[in-house]
Amino acid sequence: MTSGQLAIFTEANRPLRLEEHPTPDLAKGEILARVTLCTLCGSDLHTFQGHRTTPVPTVLGHEILGTVIESSGEVQSFDGKTVGVGDRITWTIAASCGRCFYCERGLPQKCESLLKYGHAPITEDWVFNGGLGEYCHLKPGTSIHHVPVELGDEAACPVNCATATIAAALRRAESVDGRTVLVQGAGMLGVTACAMAQTLGAQSIVVADTNPSRLERALEFGATHTLDANMGSEIVHRIRELTHGHGADLALELTGSLDAVRIGLDCLRIGGEAIWVGTTHPTEPVKVFPETVVRRMLAVRGVHNYTPSDLDFALRFLEENHRRFPFSALVEKTFSLSQVNEAFDFAIDSRPFRIGIRP
Ligand SMILES: [Zn+2]
Ligand SMILES: [Zn+2]
Repeated sequence: MTSGQLAIFTEANRPLRLEEHPTPDLAKGEILARVTLCTLCGSDLHTFQGHRTTPVPTVLGHEILGTVIESSGEVQSFDGKTVGVGDRITWTIAASCGRCFYCERGLPQKCESLLKYGHAPITEDWVFNGGLGEYCHLKPGTSIHHVPVELGDEAACPVNCATATIAAALRRAESVDGRTVLVQGAGMLGVTACAMAQTLGAQSIVVADTNPSRLERALEFGATHTLDANMGSEIVHRIRELTHGHGADLALELTGSLDAVRIGLDCLRIGGEAIWVGTTHPTEPVKVFPETVVRRMLAVRGVHNYTPSDLDFALRFLEENHRRFPFSALVEKTFSLSQVNEAFDFAIDSRPFRIGIRP
């Protein structure tokens, strides 16, 4: 029997604990992958800092790339290929049953028996359940995707959270082609949204953030205009100036800030759409005037996680565009698993787009 290391999270703001555990005996349809890279997502940092809760003890990390070490029985990838030992893969953030009320309604991310990597408690038969370990134990119902050879680890790793979530958000939009898109937040999701909106034909991509270096970065990812979010409601006037007084067709809220949520709604044209993605932790309510929503014919959609098709779309998008936009440079520093606590401290203090943990 082999064993592998894991970084265990038990309590907010406490160091993760490194433990050695035996690798599992696989049941039919399961896979054991060796983790090659795990990138820390904003939600890992929120959990670590106690801004949101998660069952404990758990293994954080859900943006994961791996190599198949072992599979039990025939396991097929998203596009129907056999998944074999040595394959370089990524997989959906969660495993879904495919048969329940929500799975049948196209919302596998809300499956009634969802198992979510990097968010689940450690149980006797599911110990390697996140990315911060040497191995990850993949359960049936996980959509497995082969990673194109030409896509480097750094460019590919955030695909199964950041890139796929943006794919899901833009899929919900009525149209991106020829439209003015306001992207609120120029972090990993924001710059990805700029790049994807450009490839989908957006006419103007206006990105707002409080951090000037992030705005600079967004310009390398297809943003056509940048706005300092510190100017608050002044953003609304700037958007009107840029759109002959009409407003943005689409406002993509990625920050979770209540000001951004409010301002995004005010920036919309008549018939515009707000897509909310950033608020995944509890907040105060936002005041909305129903009359404004009715008369201005506004739409608000929430998007949380994504479906296997969104992950497939995200991988194709990166495959086609990783040379055009500097995705691999967004993983600003890489740590070993034994430096995992240093890695969290660095990510929280320096707010890089992403850092990587390489077991
Ligand atoms: Zn994430
Ligand atoms: Zn289900």
